[in-house]
Amino acid sequence: MRLKRLELSGFKSFAKKTSFLFDAPVTAIVGPNGSGKSNCAEAFRWVLGERSMKSLRGTRGKDLIWNGGLQGGLPRAGRGAVTLIFDNHDRKFNVDFDEVAIGREVHRDGTNVYTINGSAVRARDVVELLAAVSLGSSDHYIVNQGDADRVLLASAADRRGMIEDGLGLRLYQWKIEESEKKLEKTEENMRQVESLRRELAPHLKYLKKQVDKMAEADNLRRELKKLYLEYLKREDKYLRETDAGLQEARREPEAKLKEIEARLSALGTDHSDMGVVQREINERLRRADDAIRQALREKEELGRRLGRLEGLLEAKQAMINQTLERGQREFNYEEVEHFSHDILNEV
Ligand code: ATP
Ligand code: MG
Repeated sequence: MRLKRLELSGFKSFAKKTSFLFDAPVTAIVGPNGSGKSNCAEAFRWVLGERSMKSLRGTRGKDLIWNGGLQGGLPRAGRGAVTLIFDNHDRKFNVDFDEVAIGREVHRDGTNVYTINGSAVRARDVVELLAAVSLGSSDHYIVNQGDADRVLLASAADRRGMIEDGLGLRLYQWKIEESEKKLEKTEENMRQVESLRRELAPHLKYLKKQVDKMAEADNLRRELKKLYLEYLKREDKYLRETDAGLQEARREPEAKLKEIEARLSALGTDHSDMGVVQREINERLRRADDAIRQALREKEELGRRLGRLEGLLEAKQAMINQTLERGQREFNYEEVEHFSHDILNEV
């Protein structure tokens, strides 16, 4: 794995697209003060994942974008981009390409975009890829202007960080962090499960009771089935025996019946005479019925007529009483005659 090229575009003082070719084992970048040597070193650190704005001599992301100036008179850029191109013939990077281009760009709204061979990826993917080859944003690869002393005077903890970075432990640290996060999440899940379990416990108790009851019901059902089978068996036996008894008891009346039938058939002609007598009796009964019905009808009719006569008598009696009250001592023959006529009519 060898660094082939560094490309800058709109990054800090590099307004135009600028490429540095590293085709020799050692490369020195020389230039007057303020020409951008340190910016070039910062571009390395930045593209390798540096997050500290202070170490990039800025305060916000947009400080890294070409801000316009005298140089070339170019207007300020909308984005700053840096790409590091590595030779990957030896497949040190776990990517199946001969060249690996790691890119990072920052926009004026502060958003960062990471790319690997032109495809947008997450920052984490870049860190992972670089950590696997023991590359990172740590200072021990890039010694800033005047920083040589800082490495020598670094605290034990800082120096430990540098050594760990060099040993490629960053990936494992990152993995530890990820695992710790997962562990926390799992613990949280466990807490939730525990509270859920507590919540469900009474319900489970109730369900267990139901299950017990169902098992008991099942047992009872089996027992019932057994008893029922036994009962049916006995019933069947009893029916068979009764049937046999009845068959036995039937034999004698059947024989008698046959005998009677034989006698009846012997008396065949008398039988037909009985039919004639029966018909005669029926005819007489029908006539008697008719006579009774006729008599009943007449009785009803007479009853009705009697009712009417009683009504008439009542009316006439009222009339006579009225007449008497009026003081007419004379008898009205015409009225009495009329009245008698009515009654006679009715009779
Ligand atoms: P020295 O030899 O003094 O260390 P140097 O070559 O390291 O100098 P740098 O510090 O890399 O120089 O470059 C500083 C220059 O970069 C300054 O002129 C500064 O104005 C310019 N610069 C920094 N950020 C931006 C920006 N966002 N837009 C335009 N120019 C910028
Ligand atoms: Mg400098």
